[in-house]
Amino acid sequence: MPGSFRVKQLQQADKDFVWHPFTQMKEWVHHAPLILNRGKGSYVFDLDGNQYLDATASIWVNIHGHRQPEIDRAIRAQLSKVAHTTMLGASNPPTIQLAKALVHLAPKGLTKVFYSDNGSTAVEIAAKMAVQYWKQCPDPQPDKTRFVHVGSSYHGDTVGSLSLSGIEGFRRSFLSLLFPTYAIDSPHCYRCPLSLKFPDCRLACMSPLESILKEHHQSIAGLIIEPMVQAVAGIIPAPPGYLRAIRELCTRYQVLMIADEVATGFGRTGRMFACEHEQVTPDLLAVAKGLTGGYLPLAATLATEQIYRAFWGEYDEGRTFFHGHSYTGNPLGCAAALATLQVFKRQRTIQKLKKRIPWLHAQLQTLQQDPWVGDIRQVGYMIGIEIVSDKISKCVFPSEERMGYHIAAQARILGLLIRPIGDILILMPPLSASTKELRQMVDILILAIALVRAKRSSSSHAQ
Ligand SMILES: *Cc1c(COP(=O)(O)O)cnc(C)c1O
Repeated sequence: MPGSFRVKQLQQADKDFVWHPFTQMKEWVHHAPLILNRGKGSYVFDLDGNQYLDATASIWVNIHGHRQPEIDRAIRAQLSKVAHTTMLGASNPPTIQLAKALVHLAPKGLTKVFYSDNGSTAVEIAAKMAVQYWKQCPDPQPDKTRFVHVGSSYHGDTVGSLSLSGIEGFRRSFLSLLFPTYAIDSPHCYRCPLSLKFPDCRLACMSPLESILKEHHQSIAGLIIEPMVQAVAGIIPAPPGYLRAIRELCTRYQVLMIADEVATGFGRTGRMFACEHEQVTPDLLAVAKGLTGGYLPLAATLATEQIYRAFWGEYDEGRTFFHGHSYTGNPLGCAAALATLQVFKRQRTIQKLKKRIPWLHAQLQTLQQDPWVGDIRQVGYMIGIEIVSDKISKCVFPSEERMGYHIAAQARILGLLIRPIGDILILMPPLSASTKELRQMVDILILAIALVRAKRSSSSHAQ
């Protein structure tokens, strides 16, 4: 029974009082807002009881599904003790245990955990640590204050993490607030900025980076990268060897390597951390999104012992890292995160993905025949399907046609939630999704594209 009085009331209140993220509100209030009030496994349900496959994993955070019994239980158990106590001047059991667990899991060499509550701040903390590190390390180089990032990278929305991001649309209004950076081209093989082909290119995209580092390393504190795949850029996988080459250049030019695994961490790419694919240990590692299995806002910045030691000293030496948030290390979030890691172990999630990822790859190939599907990019359970008007020329639709938006709207009618980025359709299923659910996601997507195409051609015939 759609549109009961209660549903209508809530929808109106949403329009009256809520300002949604990354949303043109004039457009939003024109439609009936989707109000979700339940979840189970790979599904979420709206107030009318309609079910939707959660193919965004609730914007990339959900790992083991909704209402996962162990995570539910862990949060309840913590709640029966205390919801929150401060990390300023005190500690608490789940927060301590999680730090220990993260250090065991993370690439070797990362030994300390600094908590925060979202990906943007985890990145910003890494940047601040890098700058302060160079002032206080055994051979101080206080001029090292700048950063290198990859073009169209996304590292968050706060002023610091936005400075490190390359997505022009997000930056445009705030240019006056952002600090200057060095940007290198994205290693975008489908649309290579150098018009080369891998592997014949022999990673030619590395040489502009090397030139920057050679010339400016004395002023560069760190380089930030989304390991193996640029997510918000449209699921852009890095060519093999790219991450390792970045690590080597950072080491050679004494630039701290910051790995932003906010999107890729916790199994998304088929390994616990994407850095593992090329046996890379960054100097700083930011995690958030999947850390609590998609339950609660929690983030962490991991640092090497070498970085941690640079902050070590007597109080009046002023080496302290002056940063922290009210909810730093929140015990409920940490309990959810510990349970999330337990489920990884008990369900052998990573091992299962080894077979499931190539299987999913094969399923996705059925999209290949669609005349609008230009490119299917997959790194583990991160999938970008690029819609083009012409496969050969890779020509895109005019942006005002908003094909991605219309396909997502059609998919929603068919019971699939996706959030496209421009005309790139993103599939980011929970790692726990069954083969049947995954197949259904692909099938609905194929149908949604076909229906939008049919509508478009009938409306153009009508003209
Ligand atoms: C989502 C994301 C962020 C920002 O995290 P928030 O929790 O949304 O602040 C940073 N980096 C990457 C790679 C992300 O995908």
